[in-house]
Amino acid sequence: MLSRHWLNLTWLRLARVRWLPMATMLGVAAVAVAAVALSVQRLSTQHLQAEACRAAQGLARHLASSVQEVDLVFRGAVPIPVAQEQLLALRGLDGVSHFRLFDPGGTLVLVSDSVGTKPPAADADAAASAQARDVVRSGLGHAEVRTDERAKDTLTTTSRAYMPVLQSGRLIGVMEVDMDQSALAQGVARSFRLASAVAGSAMALCVLLAAVLMRHRARLERRARERADFLAGHDMLTGSLNHTHFNNALVQACQRSAHAGTGGPAVICIDLDGFALVNERHGHRVGDDLLCHTAERLRSLLRDSDHLARLAGDRFAILQSGASDSAAVSALVQRVLRHLAQPHDLPGADQAVRLSASAGVALYGADGEDADTLLHNAELALLRAKSNGRGAWSAYDPTLDRRLQERRSLAHDLRLALAQDGLSLHFQPLYSSRTGELTGYEALARWPHPTLGLVPPSDFIPLAEETGQIEALGRWVLRAACAEAARWPEPLTVAVNLSPAQFRRGETIVSEVAEALSQSRLAPARLELEITESLLMSHTEQVLATLHSLRGLGTRIAMDDFGTGYSSLAYLWRFPFDKLKIDRAFTQGLGSDTKVDVIVRSIIMLAHSLSMRVNAEGVETEAQQAALKLHGCDELQGYLLGRPVPAERLPHVEAETAAMLLTI
Ligand code: C2E
Ligand code: CA
Ligand code: CA
Repeated sequence: MLSRHWLNLTWLRLARVRWLPMATMLGVAAVAVAAVALSVQRLSTQHLQAEACRAAQGLARHLASSVQEVDLVFRGAVPIPVAQEQLLALRGLDGVSHFRLFDPGGTLVLVSDSVGTKPPAADADAAASAQARDVVRSGLGHAEVRTDERAKDTLTTTSRAYMPVLQSGRLIGVMEVDMDQSALAQGVARSFRLASAVAGSAMALCVLLAAVLMRHRARLERRARERADFLAGHDMLTGSLNHTHFNNALVQACQRSAHAGTGGPAVICIDLDGFALVNERHGHRVGDDLLCHTAERLRSLLRDSDHLARLAGDRFAILQSGASDSAAVSALVQRVLRHLAQPHDLPGADQAVRLSASAGVALYGADGEDADTLLHNAELALLRAKSNGRGAWSAYDPTLDRRLQERRSLAHDLRLALAQDGLSLHFQPLYSSRTGELTGYEALARWPHPTLGLVPPSDFIPLAEETGQIEALGRWVLRAACAEAARWPEPLTVAVNLSPAQFRRGETIVSEVAEALSQSRLAPARLELEITESLLMSHTEQVLATLHSLRGLGTRIAMDDFGTGYSSLAYLWRFPFDKLKIDRAFTQGLGSDTKVDVIVRSIIMLAHSLSMRVNAEGVETEAQQAALKLHGCDELQGYLLGRPVPAERLPHVEAETAAMLLTI
C-alpha cells in the first residue's frame, strides 16, 4: 500500500520533469559513451599493434646481429648448429611463439618449429609470401592483432608481424613473427573496463546532475509562473484581489445567479475615513500597514465563497456570495464597520490609530444584474454614506446616480474654467466698527458657469477639494487677489481664504504666497490669510510650522468662522492669530437670544486679551451692527455694509469716481 503510494508519488514527480530535453540529453550521453568505447577499443588495438611491431623489430635486429651466418640462412642454407641454437632461443622472447623467415623474393626459407631442416613446401603460403614481398618493397614492417574467444571469459590475443631484417643497412630478408599478447591485451582490457566504468559513472553523474538541475529549474519556473499569476490577479500590498479579478468573480457570480434564479451576490464598497491624514501624519509605511491590517480584518469576516478586493487606495470591496436578502448584507456591513473602527496598533505609529470606515451596498436583482452596474451602484451608495458623515453605511438609491453624474460633469467644467481663466473674484468690504472707515476687502471666488449661471463657492470649493483642483484654484485666487489689492490705496488690505487642502504640502503654500506677493509687489502686511479651525484639527504640528512660516513672510493670519467648530477655544492658545472672525451664525443670533450676546461679548474679550482683533461676519441689520459695536467688535462685514462685488465696483473705487466727477 505504502510502496504503491510512493510509486505513485515518484511517478507524479517524474511526470513533471520535462521529458523532451531529458530524452535528448540521455541520447547524447549514450552516443558519447559509445563513441568513447569505440575510440578506447581502437586505441587499445593500436597499442597492441605498436607493441607487436616494437617486439618484432627487436627480434629482427637481434636475429641480424646475433645469429651466426644468418645471411646464408636467408639465401636458403640450413643454419649451422650454433645458429640453430640461437634461432631456437628466439622463441619465448617477448612472447614469441613462432616465426618464419623469407628471402627478399618472398620464398619461405625457415620455420621456427624445424630450424635444422629446410621448410617443407607445404609450409609455404602465398599470402605470407606476398606480405614478405610488400615489406621488401616498402622497407617497413607491420603487425596485425587477432583476438580469439575460446572460452567464455578467456581472451587469446595474438599478433603477427612482418619485419625487414637488415644487416649493415642492407635488407637480407623478412621475418614473420607470431606473438602471444594475451597478457598484454588483458591488461589493456582491464584498463579499458576501468576507464569505461569511470567514464560511464561520470556520464551517469552528469545526467543525474543535469536532471536534478532541470527539475529544480522547472520548479523555479513553476513558482515564478504561479507568483506572476497571483500578482496579475491580486493587489501586491494586501494580497486581496485586484479590480480586474474582483470584476471577473462578480461577473461569474451574476451569471450563476441568473441561472439558478436565487441567492445573488451583494457588493459592499468600503472606504476608510480620513486615511489621507494617517498617511500625512504617520508616513506612508504606517499607511501601508494600516491597509494590510484592514484587509486582514475584512478577510476574517468573510466566508470562503466571498471575495475581498482592494479597488484603489483605501477603497475595498467585498463580494458577498449568495446574499439572499438585505438583512444578511446589512448584518455583514455592520460587522465590517464595527471591526474596522477598532484601534489599530501599528509598529511605526506612536499611538494606536483609530479611524472609522464608510460603506455602500448594492444587491443583485434590486440594484443591478450585472457586475458593472452593481459595482457602480455600490460606489454611489458609498458616496452617499460619506456625505452623511463618518462611520456610516448606505444602501443604493437610484436618485444618487443622477446627482453623481451632475457632480462629475461639474468637476469637468471646473477643470475647464480653471484652465481657461473662467473664474473671477468678488470683494466684500470690511469696515472699522469704531470709525466706520473701510479697512479692506475679503476676496471671494466666483464661477460664472456658461449654462448654470453663477455657481456658489459653497458648491464648487468642496468639489475642487474632492477632485484635487483646490491647489490650482487657491493659487489662482492668491495671485489675482494680490494683483488687484496692489492697485488699491494703502492701507487697504485683502483677505484670502485658504483651504486645508492647500496645507497638505506645507512648503508649497508658503512659496506660493511669497510668489504672489513678489509678483504683485503688494506689501505682505496688507495680505491677510483666513484659515478655518478644521485645518488645526489635523496634523497640527506641521500646520503650525507652516502658519509660522507664512507669518514670517509678514502676512497676517485670521481664524475664520470662529465658533462653528467643536473645540475652537482650544486652538486659540496654539497660534497667535492676528484676527478672529466670528461666524455669521452668532451675528445673526444677536438681539434675539441673550445667550448669544453673552457668548459674543466673551469671545471678543477673550480675543482682545490674546491681542487679537475681532471681525464679525454676516452683519445684516443695524441692530446687529449696534450690538457688535457695543460689545467692542473691531471690524464689521455683511450685506448691511456691502455685498461682495467685482473689482470695478468696489466702494473705494466708486467713491473715487464720484469724487472725480464732482471735481469735473
Ligand atoms: P466665508 O469665508 O465665510 O465667506 C463669507 C461668506 O459669507 C461669503 O459667501 C459671503 O458672500 C457671505 N456673506 C457675507 N456677508 C453676509 C451676510 O450679511 N449675510 C449672509 N447670509 N452671507 C454673507 P460666499 O462668497 O458664498 O462664500 C462662501 C464660502 O466659500 C466662504 O465662506 C469660503 O469658505 C468659501 N470661499 C469663497 N471663496 C473662496 C476662495 O477663494 N477660497 C477658498 N478656499 N474658499 C472660498
Ligand atoms: Ca472667509
Ligand atoms: Ca467666514
